[in-house]
Amino acid sequence: MYKVGITGGIGSGKTTACRVFEVLGIPVFYADTVAKEIMCKDAVLVDGVKSAFGAASYSEDGKLNNKHIAGIVFNNEEALAQLNALVHPAVFRAFDAWEATIPSTVPYTLKEAAILFESGSYKLCDTTILVTAPYEIKIKRLMQRDGVTEEQVKARMDKQLSDEEKAKLADHFIVNDEQQSIIEQVLSLHQGFLKLAKELKNA
Ligand code: ATP
Repeated sequence: MYKVGITGGIGSGKTTACRVFEVLGIPVFYADTVAKEIMCKDAVLVDGVKSAFGAASYSEDGKLNNKHIAGIVFNNEEALAQLNALVHPAVFRAFDAWEATIPSTVPYTLKEAAILFESGSYKLCDTTILVTAPYEIKIKRLMQRDGVTEEQVKARMDKQLSDEEKAKLADHFIVNDEQQSIIEQVLSLHQGFLKLAKELKNA
């Protein structure tokens, strides 16, 4: 099935754009939400995390010990890369299982991931969308949504690839600047994907 990857910096509005695609009947796989869920559910991942970071990574009732993991990977690039190397394949497995449940009448699917480009998972998509928004608007949105300070938002942004870097890898763009209609932009992309998906099916 035709796969569209969608990403964007924090506060850009990628989830908001995905909600519009969902209204159009397109199923969305929210990779970041799934990644959190499978930390306790995917047996291969759980075993891998325990071997890499110790049995204390989980409580006796199987809940993830976030504090323990964060304490190890915080400011330790090697440990963070090790964690990512365990989580990313597990998310791919979850995506494949999810996709297998999608009826063949669905024209295409969307995979939303904050680190679509950084993780390399964009390579498994047929095409990609980057959602962008002006810096000041993203700061305003996140301060409002998460009740955090400007400094806290900036610290989170600094950990991500810049829009300029992501734009080099993206095929399509949604500009969520509160001037251009996000609904119209999604509708226009949707029409294009429907056409491409149809061509692919008939090829
Ligand atoms: P994150 O990566 O932090 O989860 P995101 O890119 O998924 O962020 P959203 O959660 O979609 O971004 O949007 C961030 C906040 O901004 C939300 O509270 C959302 O309701 C609001 N928002 C997004 N787009 C718009 C818009 N065009 N007009 C007004 N508010 C918006």
